[in-house]
Amino acid sequence: MNSPNRISQLDDYTIGHIAAGEVVERPAQVVKELIENSIDASSTKLVIEIMNGGFDRISISDNGSGIHHEDLPMALDRHATSKLKDQEDLSSIITLGFRGEALASIGMVSKLTISSRPQSMDGKQIVMSDGDKGNVEPVGMPEGTKIDVENIFRNQPARLAFQRRPATETSKIVDVVVSHAIAHPEVSFKLLSDERVLLEVPIVENIEDRLYDVLGGQAGKMIKLNSPETDENAPGEERWDGWISTPDITRGKGDEIHVLINGRPVASQPFNQSIRRGYKTRLMQGRHPVAVLKLNLPPEEVDVNVHPTKREVRLKNSWRVLERLERSIAFTLETTPTEPESSGGITGITSLSPETKYQRTVEKPAWATSAQLSLTGEKAIELPKEDKKRPISEPVVNQSTITGEKAIAPALSIQERQLHRNAGLAATSPSEGGPIGPVINDLPAMEPLAQFADSYILVQSGEELLLIDQHALHERVRYERLRYDESSWEPQDRISAIPLDLDPRQKAKMDASISILNDLGFKFGSVTGGYTITSAPALLKGDDLQPFIHDLLLDLSEDGAPLETLERRKDHLAFLNSCRGAVKANEKLSLPEMRRLLDDMRRIPNPWACVHGRPTAMRIPLNALDQHFGRHG
Ligand code: ADP
Ligand code: MG
Repeated sequence: MNSPNRISQLDDYTIGHIAAGEVVERPAQVVKELIENSIDASSTKLVIEIMNGGFDRISISDNGSGIHHEDLPMALDRHATSKLKDQEDLSSIITLGFRGEALASIGMVSKLTISSRPQSMDGKQIVMSDGDKGNVEPVGMPEGTKIDVENIFRNQPARLAFQRRPATETSKIVDVVVSHAIAHPEVSFKLLSDERVLLEVPIVENIEDRLYDVLGGQAGKMIKLNSPETDENAPGEERWDGWISTPDITRGKGDEIHVLINGRPVASQPFNQSIRRGYKTRLMQGRHPVAVLKLNLPPEEVDVNVHPTKREVRLKNSWRVLERLERSIAFTLETTPTEPESSGGITGITSLSPETKYQRTVEKPAWATSAQLSLTGEKAIELPKEDKKRPISEPVVNQSTITGEKAIAPALSIQERQLHRNAGLAATSPSEGGPIGPVINDLPAMEPLAQFADSYILVQSGEELLLIDQHALHERVRYERLRYDESSWEPQDRISAIPLDLDPRQKAKMDASISILNDLGFKFGSVTGGYTITSAPALLKGDDLQPFIHDLLLDLSEDGAPLETLERRKDHLAFLNSCRGAVKANEKLSLPEMRRLLDDMRRIPNPWACVHGRPTAMRIPLNALDQHFGRHG
C-alpha cells in the first residue's frame, strides 16, 4: 500500500497563481475586468487600446474617481476592495466588481501599471511585474485612472499555448466592449486595435440611440419589449424590458442576445430556452433572434458571487423570472403587427398555438429526425390543416403510412410559409438539373399513373399505390442536389462588386477570418473602411450573400469552428433554396416530369421525408385495398 502524501500549506505566490488562473483566462477577460473597474469608478469616458489582440498590450484610461495614492499598493492585493466592507454587503451588490481579485490576478501574469489621479491630487503610479510589486512613484497625467497590461502570460508558457489567435481575441474583445456599451449609454467608449479605431460611441441619452451606434441598421427593426398588463400584478418585483428582433431577422448563433441583470452583462445561455419559447413557432430550427434584454430586480434576489468571472449569476426566483420573460416576448410579438398571413389575418400566437405541440417535440432538425423513421408506421398524422377550397378525401381504413407513430412534423414557421408561398415564383421543372447520383435506396421501380388535384402523383410501386406530394418530394430532391453537387459551391465571379455592410464586431471578425472565407470560395475587394464581395459560391444569389456572410462571421468567432460551421451553413442554404425552386402544389406536371421526379427519388437517402420533416408520400398496400373491398372474405 502507498503511504499517504502529507498536506502542506501553499505559499502566497502559488495561491496567487492559482487564483489568477480563474480570473484571467484570456486578454478579453482582462478587458472586461478593467472596464468594470472604470464603470464602478463612475467614469463617463473610456478609451481602450489593444495591441496584437491584447497579448502585447492592453491600456484603458478613464475619467473616473481615481485611486487614492495610499491605496495603490493595496489595489494590487488579493481580496482588497473599496466596494464592500463585510459579508453582509455581499447580499446586495450594486457594483460590477467586489471580489478584489482582478488587479492582483492580472499583476501575477503580466507587467501591470496602475496610474491614477483623483480630483485635486497628484498623479501616482505603481508597477507589478509577474507578481512583484514596485514602489509608488509620481506621474504626470489627467484626472482619472490608466491601467496598462503588457505581455500577458509571457511568464506562463502553458497558458499562452492555449490562447486563441490575436485576431480571434480582438473580435472577442470587441464583443466585450459592445456588451458594456449596450449596458452603459451614459459612458462613451472608444476602442483601438493596433492603432485602428474599431468602435467609437458617444455618450447618449437613451439606450435606443446606443443600439443604433453598436448594432447598426438592424436596430431600427427591433421592437420594444412589452409585458401583458396582468404581469404588473403578478408576484415579484422583477421587471424585464429591452428590444427584440422581429422573427425575420435571425442569426445562426445566440451571440447577439445581450442579457443585462441590473446593468451587468451576463451569459445569455440560461435564458435561451425561454426566449425561444416566447417566439413560439416563429423561429426556424437553429435560428436565434437579436435581442437586448434588461432585467431589473432587487439586488438581494440575485447572487453574483457564484463564478470568479461573474459572467454567471444565480437568481432567487429563476423560474418565475424566466416565465415572465417568455410571456413578455410572446405578448410583444402578438401585439406587434408583422407580415400579414396569406389568409389576410395578422400573424399571431392565436393562429399558431394549436400547432405548437408539434413544434415542442422536435429538438433536432426535422429532417434529421425523420431520417430515423421506420417505413412501417402506424397511423397517419393529422397535419395542421390549411384553409383550402379543395376536396379532402377521408382517410382509408387500415392504410399504412410511412411516418412514425409520433408527431414529427413541426408547424411551418413564418419564414417557411413565406418560402412556400413564393415557392413557385422561380420554380424549376422537376426534369431540370443533372442526375443526382446512383440509385442508393431500395425503392422498387415506380410508374406514375396520373396526377391528382395537380398536387399529388399517383404511383404504382410494386404491390403498393403511392400518393406522392409533388412539392415535398421535389424540395427534398433539390435539397440533395444543391447540398452535394460540388458545382453549386464553386466560386463564381460577380459582375459588379457587391458592397458588404458590417458593424464593428462583424468587421473585426471579418479581418480575422479573411483567409477562411477565401477558402470557402469568397473573394473580397476593399473600399474605405470596409469590404465588397467580388466572388462567391455559385449557389449564393444576390440577396443571400450578405446574410450568409453575417452568419458565417458569427460562427467563425472561435477558432476551430469553420468546418463544422460551413457544413451547417451549406445545409441551411440548400434548405432555403430547395424550397424556393421547387415545383409547387396546384401545378400540372407532364408524365416525363413525374417520371424524372420518381427516378430521382431512388437516388436520395431518406426519400420519405421532405426537408421540413413532413412525409413526401403515403403508401396504400394492395392487400389493404383488398381488405377494404372485402376481397379476402
Ligand atoms: P474589485 O473591482 O473587485 O474591487 P479589483 O482588483 O478589480 O477589485 O480592483 C481593486 C480596487 O482598485 C477596486 O476596489 C477600486 O477601489 C480600485 N480600482 C481599480 N480600478 C479602478 C479605476 N479604474 N478607477 C478607480 N478605482 C479603481
Ligand atoms: Mg474589479
